[in-house]
This record gives sequence, C-alpha cells and structure tokens, in this order.
Amino acid sequence: MSDDDGDYCLIDTARPPKADGPPYAECVLCREPTEYPESYKGITLCPVCEWQEAQRTACSG
Ligand SMILES: [Zn+2]
Repeated sequence: MSDDDGDYCLIDTARPPKADGPPYAECVLCREPTEYPESYKGITLCPVCEWQEAQRTACSG
C-alpha cells in the first residue's frame, strides 16, 4: 500500500483572483494592501511577503 505521495516539489500556481479595485484585503503579515479583494477567503499576502513565503517554502535542492 503506497500512497505514492513522494517528496516532489509542489508549486501551487493557482492564484487568487485579483481585485478589480478597492477595498483590497490587507496582508496578513505586514498589513500592507494586497492585490486581492477584501472578500477573498484565505491568506492574503502582499507581493513582498508572498515572494518571501515562496522563498521560504521553496524546495531546496
Ligand atoms: Zn506583506
């Protein structure tokens, strides 16, 4: 029985829809406005924090 969920690098390319305009959701980390609509359900990160998170969670090697 193998789930075969190997340690491959999973890059989530699905991005939330960008807001057409304000109000924007604020970044959960630095509270800067993001590109996501305020109604977006989920974690919203500004481009800076998003990039940093991507670096942190990126597969090494
Ligand atoms: Zn941020």
